[in-house]
Amino acid sequence: MTVYDLHCHSTASDGTLAPSALVARAAQRGVDFLALTDHDDLSGLPEAHHASIGSPVQIINGVELSTLWERRTVHVVGLFFDAESLALKEALTLVRAARQQRAEAIGQALARAGIGGALEGARRFVTNEALISRSHFARFLVEQGVVSEKQQAFTRYLGAGKPAHAPPPWPALAESIAVLHAAGGVAVLAHPGRYPLTDTAMRRLLDEFRDLAGDAIEIFSSSHTPQQSERFAEYARFYGFKASLGSDFHDPEESHIDLGALPPIPVGLVPVWSR
Ligand code: AMP
Ligand code: MN
Ligand code: MN
Ligand code: MN
Repeated sequence: MTVYDLHCHSTASDGTLAPSALVARAAQRGVDFLALTDHDDLSGLPEAHHASIGSPVQIINGVELSTLWERRTVHVVGLFFDAESLALKEALTLVRAARQQRAEAIGQALARAGIGGALEGARRFVTNEALISRSHFARFLVEQGVVSEKQQAFTRYLGAGKPAHAPPPWPALAESIAVLHAAGGVAVLAHPGRYPLTDTAMRRLLDEFRDLAGDAIEIFSSSHTPQQSERFAEYARFYGFKASLGSDFHDPEESHIDLGALPPIPVGLVPVWSR
């Protein structure tokens, strides 16, 4: 059986393994096709491609775009695009600049909550100067003993509605899908089970994703319970979306699903890689 893992992160965003280490781990884990999908950044792709030469792993160009839908963050995984696309590269540059601004706001909000030096602290965990993420703040808060694990940093400080939440500065979902299509890629709705939406709102999101010519949705993800995977498999059938899957691996300690540890795409669904 061919093993696909189409969602993971390296040091080019908020993962802790360098792209080459990720490829080595994927090879060890029996992954045949790996999409490196760093947040809003393509700079890990050349190293991943290089590391895959002479390895059993084949690299698929990937990215995880931060987008805004009804004022909420929705992640869209882009796959199979041309990494030289100017439209895509320019869009990503803008998002990364917005991330720097948001990081300053988060640092200020944490200071108001009594936690000083957070921006500098988070920057010590940054592994790509151009890309700062809430994950880096979360790792700083764990290091300082303010919280006991990464997830708690989100439930107590960084998540929506919490004291250090800053408004997400992302481009619209529609714009992000269009940019991926312009770059010759496909747009995959990432971990749909993770968005705190009512059934009605989820249907609205999926309706809009279909109307915008979104291509696929993630069925299997470390964010999904088995029930959620089943629910989104049903939605994929109903809407005619292709099915994708990915571990969303970030780090050997933090991530509870390792690279490639994913079930096969259910019968009757079209995998995102069939074109
Ligand atoms: P950002 O894109 O900067 O808003 O950061 C989002 C990232 O934070 C996600 O990609 C995850 O890696 C991480 N994250 C978000 N929510 C949680 C959570 N509840 N527990 C652990 N990590 C999270
Ligand atoms: Mn992440
Ligand atoms: Mn995500
Ligand atoms: Mn991800």
